[in-house]
Parts: sequence; C-alpha cells; structure tokens
Amino acid sequence: MMTTDWNEFGFNTRAVRAGQVRSDEGEHSEAIFPTSSYVFENAAQAAARFAHTEPGNIYSRFTNPTVRNFEQRLAALEGGERCIATASGMAAIFSTCLGLLKAGDHIVASQSIFGTTVVLFSNILAKFAIKTTFVNLSDINSWRAAMQPNTKLLFLETPSNPLMELADIRELAELAHARNCLLVVDNCFCTPALQTPLSLGADIVIHSATKYLDGQGRCMGGAVVGPEKIIGGDIFAILRSGGPTMSPFNAWVFLKGLETLNLRMQKHCDNAETLAHWLEKQDMVERVYHPSLPTHPQHELAKAQQSRFGGLVSFDVKGGQEAAWRVIDSTQIMSITANLGDTKTTITHPATTTHGRLTPEQRQAASIGDGLVRISVGLEDVEDLQADLLRGLTA
Ligand SMILES: *Cc1c(COP(=O)(O)O)cnc(C)c1O
Repeated sequence: MMTTDWNEFGFNTRAVRAGQVRSDEGEHSEAIFPTSSYVFENAAQAAARFAHTEPGNIYSRFTNPTVRNFEQRLAALEGGERCIATASGMAAIFSTCLGLLKAGDHIVASQSIFGTTVVLFSNILAKFAIKTTFVNLSDINSWRAAMQPNTKLLFLETPSNPLMELADIRELAELAHARNCLLVVDNCFCTPALQTPLSLGADIVIHSATKYLDGQGRCMGGAVVGPEKIIGGDIFAILRSGGPTMSPFNAWVFLKGLETLNLRMQKHCDNAETLAHWLEKQDMVERVYHPSLPTHPQHELAKAQQSRFGGLVSFDVKGGQEAAWRVIDSTQIMSITANLGDTKTTITHPATTTHGRLTPEQRQAASIGDGLVRISVGLEDVEDLQADLLRGLTA
C-alpha cells in the first residue's frame, strides 16, 4: 500500500499497519533486512535500477526495505508525502540544512532549541557561510524583524525545552511563506500523536526518533518528513551521497515503537498533568512549567494546537541550585540523566547540564534558573513519582 492511501485510516491503524510489505515468507511481524546490497537479475536490471528507470533496491545507504517501512509509517502519521530516516536526530537536522541551504543563506531559529542544534547552526554551518539569527520563540515580531532577503529557513521546537513555551505554527508558516521561506518544526516533544505541524502549514517536520518514537531508550535515529519534491529531491540527495543512514535494526525498533506511540503518549500526558498539578501545591515549589496548567501563558494556544499537553514538566524549587540538587539526589526511582521520552522517568538540572555552556547572563535571559528541575515523565505509577519527589521537597 502506498503512503497516500493511509490518509483515510485512523492514527492507531496507521501506526500499526502503514508501510508493511510482507515477504514471500509470510512473516506477521515486520522483517529486518540486514543487507548492504541487493542482487540484480541481470546486468540490464542493474543498469535500469542505477538509471532510476526501474524502481527497487540498490544499496542500503539509501534503499533498505526495513528503513523504508519505518519511513512510510512515520510519513503516514505526520501526514507527509515522504520521509527520510537518518542515523540520529542531529543527522536529520544536518541533512535538511545541507540539502536546502548554500553559502550566503540565512536561518532564523528559535533561541529555545536543543543545545546541539544551536552548536550546529552557530559553529558548524557558520563555517560554510550559513548564518543564523536566534529569536524569541513565542514573539512573532522578533521572527519578522530577524528575517533578511537571504533567509531560507525558519526553525523551531514547540513546546520548547525546558520551559514549555509554544510558538503559533500557523502564524509562523504564514510569515515564512510570505517571504519565500520554509518552516521547519522539530516535533520531537509532541510527536504526531499530539501535534502534526504539516497540517498547520509547516513545510518540514524533523524527528529525533531516539526520544518518544522509540520511547524505550534503546536506539539512535532521526527523520525528516515533508513534500515529495523537497524530501525526495534535495534531502534524498544528501542521504545518498552524504550517507547519514539509519540501520535496518534501528528502523525495526522504531517501527515497533510507533505501534504503541499513541498509547504511550496518552499515559505520558496523564502522568505529566497529574504531576504538574500536584507540584503546584507543594510549598517548596515556586513555579511549575507545563502547558496543561491554566497559569501557563499559552495554555489556550496549547489547547488549540496540540491534542494533549506533553510529557515534560519543569519546576523551580525554592532555594536555588542546592535545593534543586537535593530534590534530584533524593530520588530513588527516577533516573538522573538528560535524556527524555523514555518509559523511565528522567530528572535533570538544566542550569548545570544541558544549559551549562551558557553564561549566567544568557541563562537568566532564557529564564533557566538555578532552582529549575526538568522531568521527562515516564510510565511508572504517578503516586510513586510523587513520593520520589516528596523526599527531596520536604528534606
Ligand atoms: C535529542 C534531540 C535532538 C537530537 O537528536 P539525537 O537523536 O540525539 O541526535 C534534536 N532535537 C530535539 C528536540 C531533541 O530533544
């Protein structure tokens, strides 16, 4: 079945079924094809494959049945025509930039994006004369003011990490298209189970499959989703000749992850909402950041743009770093790690880890306080998570 046929099916059906092509063995679960190359029937077929006059597998750097199965399933979930899987989330972002930009081009990016993406834009792309201006995610005027005649991409994550700020994707898509730019949304935190940026006008969706798509903390992977013309053109060219390829084994793990994505996301959201509302009532907690809270400045936008509020919760503990570290070190269940999107709850101190490279002034400007704690809420029983936090909050 082709990707486009899946539009008439519900999300969960697409998540379980889309993209599977059964081999002659009749296997029920998707097969893994660990092969680097493919055998042609004769010299003429080899020539036709290489000339693209006949479709089919050539070499696993850019054609592999298991990887294709994952690509088609994720494309069906995001509502995109085409997907290209990559070795990691960063490889997806890097491939997108290499495919779509050239020396002299300009990116406008949210300042509240994944730290390594900031490094990629500021240090690595800058070497190739591609400049980036960083702007305030939720302030449309700041995006508008930063745009230049050579701006080609607008890049963001919404909600942002760790403060859960949102951008209005529809509004940014209009701005981008009025200036002949593409809007790229890293949809890592919501996943298509909660938000489909392409349906709101975005041109390209990026994924770190490492996070919720696997959802069980096992494999590295990434993906780029969007129109056939862009993804099958310039981005595929980078995959084929740049080689940031996803392994078939990892693609299989992600396929299995997608089958339970919606179920898991619903439970992540349930637990995160319960925890956020509970945290707001704790004396030691100064402020809680989660879009489900009516106190969240963009609660209404979150309700309109997302189907649920997501699995990440941050909060400021009274007493700065010492108090925040006490909360973290008093946990017995939660994992102290900066990773996110796992069945296992993870807890981290952004000011000294993910945002540790910023100067104190930059952290203050970004509202990353010394007392800030970020939790990627897992699938454990939420009462146990509350008890785990309570130890440090009452110590
Ligand atoms: C982790 C992450 C990435 C990078 O993905 P990797 O798979 O680690 O390379 C990109 N964007 C966001 C929002 C992430 O959380």
